[in-house]
Amino acid sequence: MCRVSDAPVVVLMLPFPAQGHLTPLLHFSRLLALRRLPVVFLGSSAHNRQAKLRLQGWNLTSFPSISFHDLPLPPCPVPDPDPESAIKFPAHLQPIFDASDRLRDPLDQLLAPLSASSRRVVVVHDPLMSFAAELGTKYPNVEAFAFRCISAFSSLSFQLNQQRDPKPVRQGLHLVSPKGCFTKEFLEFVHRRHHGVRLTKGEIFNTFHGIEGEFTEKLSTLPQYKDRRVWGIGPIMPLQLEKRSDPKSKLFHWLDKQPDGSVLYVSFGSNSSLSSAQISELAAGLERSGQRFLWVLRAPDRGDIFKKGTDPEIRLPEGFEQRVSGTGLVVRGWVPQLEILSHGAVGGFLSHCGWNSCMESLSLGVPLATWPLHSDQPANAQLMTEVLKVGVVVSEWGAAEEVLPAEKIERSVRQLMVPTNESLDVRKRSAELREAARHAWARGGSSRTALDSFVDLITRP
Ligand code: UDP
Repeated sequence: MCRVSDAPVVVLMLPFPAQGHLTPLLHFSRLLALRRLPVVFLGSSAHNRQAKLRLQGWNLTSFPSISFHDLPLPPCPVPDPDPESAIKFPAHLQPIFDASDRLRDPLDQLLAPLSASSRRVVVVHDPLMSFAAELGTKYPNVEAFAFRCISAFSSLSFQLNQQRDPKPVRQGLHLVSPKGCFTKEFLEFVHRRHHGVRLTKGEIFNTFHGIEGEFTEKLSTLPQYKDRRVWGIGPIMPLQLEKRSDPKSKLFHWLDKQPDGSVLYVSFGSNSSLSSAQISELAAGLERSGQRFLWVLRAPDRGDIFKKGTDPEIRLPEGFEQRVSGTGLVVRGWVPQLEILSHGAVGGFLSHCGWNSCMESLSLGVPLATWPLHSDQPANAQLMTEVLKVGVVVSEWGAAEEVLPAEKIERSVRQLMVPTNESLDVRKRSAELREAARHAWARGGSSRTALDSFVDLITRP
């Protein structure tokens, strides 16, 4: 039994079991803990361990009111990822996604005593775990809220795309095509899982007014948000980062030697992979650009990141690492992205545009080179380049090429990293949005006000 059973208001966090969904709910736990609320983070033991291990920017030991509660989940084998697949969505994780349904009964067993001993139990869950909201309706004092780990802009794009005669999110922008964003199996899964979201009292987005006010406001006018609130509470990561990594590690030792703002950080997040032909073109593009880069080359997460197994070797063109050794570093495995993005040497981020990566880059004032691969990433890329103008396009979503050629990659890398009027404008804009993120959390700022209103609601007498 978890140790908050006598608190008047208890918050349960129920994330979806994938890295990009674990991190934001843990960051949100910190924000609620700062408001003196006890928070219980729920998940299988492997996912709870993963969330703790990969946490960056703050220290869990400073937050004793956040506890972890392991829900039983039987082992769930997943197939090998298929980097050659035309659809880049991590289909290999589907068995884990499906298995998360098994958390329903253990959650119910937790809700029953907690609802009896607390004045109110607040469940903040991923929309893909909306069975939590369905379960909540069994108890008079359980209230559910959905935490969306995507941008308001992409959420709006998805919802508009479902309309018979879809209009663009904003006049003058094309509506990003959902084609190729997901597998059929995942879409069916979303359909099944999303149902309960309407039972929630509202939805929280990791965003702020200065970047997405227009879109959160537009979302709240849609029929599905009638009588349900939308909060923009972000960036949820701390803006003053506590460093944890070894500053003497090879990676930081290398970064420390690079000139300010000169390095392009290249990463495709936690669960994506590129085909071997694409990796060769990317290597050639980076090499030809002549720009400094730090490339994170890793196999996608496989569900249980602690399970022993051998990832296939990701091959680079013959002699590549030796040839670029003066200007580029390839790192294999997990890296502390927040610390990298906050390093003075990093001046750009070639990203798949997962929403966490976008928000992290934006909060730290690092402009982007966008290369979306699946899910909400194409819409996020559009938001970054066409709306917020803090990035340049590397890969156009829906473009005909199966493999993006080196010349295009080279051109975009140079476009972002070589100082020109255009790249300086993008940098200036990124610096402005970095400040806007700080204003959102200042007294009277939009995120601080939104968090106040959320906390007032859940702690009301
Ligand atoms: N991340 C990291 N190190 C890595 C790869 C990813 O710290 O080597 C973090 C990154 O900072 C972000 C999260 O993992 O918080 C990835 O989430 P995002 O939404 O950007 O992409 P996803 O992995 O869900 O596609």
